[in-house]
Amino acid sequence: MANSQIAQVATVDLSAASAALWLAATAFMALLALYIVGIDQGAVSLFGNDTHVHEFFHDARHLLGFPCH
Ligand SMILES: [Zn+2]
Repeated sequence: MANSQIAQVATVDLSAASAALWLAATAFMALLALYIVGIDQGAVSLFGNDTHVHEFFHDARHLLGFPCH
C-alpha cells in the first residue's frame, strides 16, 4: 500500500465516565423492558386499569414463561 492510501480510522471514546453512562442506560432500558413485558399486570401495574400494554405483550409474556393467568 502506498503512503497516500493510509486509511483514516475514527477514534472511539472509551473513557470510564462514558462507559458508566452507557452501562447505566443499558441496564435501565433492560429493566424497563423486563418490567413492561413480564411484570406489569393487575394491581401492581403502572398503567392502572388500562390493560393495553399487558395485552400487547401477552404472547411474549407466555413465550418467555412469565406467570400470567
Ligand atoms: Zn396470559
